[in-house]
Amino acid sequence: MKLDPDLRLRIYEIAGIYASRFSIPEPKVLLTTREVLDMPREMTEGARTSAYKYLGLSYNKQNLIFINVRKISNDKDLENTIVHELIHQRFPYLSHGKRFNKLARQGLRGKKFLPYQKRK
Ligand SMILES: [Zn+2]
Repeated sequence: MKLDPDLRLRIYEIAGIYASRFSIPEPKVLLTTREVLDMPREMTEGARTSAYKYLGLSYNKQNLIFINVRKISNDKDLENTIVHELIHQRFPYLSHGKRFNKLARQGLRGKKFLPYQKRK
């Protein structure tokens, strides 16, 4: 997709809506690899120069996500990617797999999640 100011605003809105449903603070959303590289190094540790390879990334501890708009071809994939990254933020201990996919589907359907509580 081509990133223009309208699309940028729309992405921030979608991220805001899902963040509130998932009971997480609204993340900072990066939309170009340039924006990833412009972040302080410690914020994007682990994926900086490799960011272009992915549809999206979640920097869990930083309340920061990257949505690789260039690599995304339509609205549906855009929403899927945003929800995917926000599920990472809400369920930071969870890796990819069946349970992850189920939560992502529920999230897309509008399910609300209670705030994350660190397990003791
Ligand atoms: Zn993921």
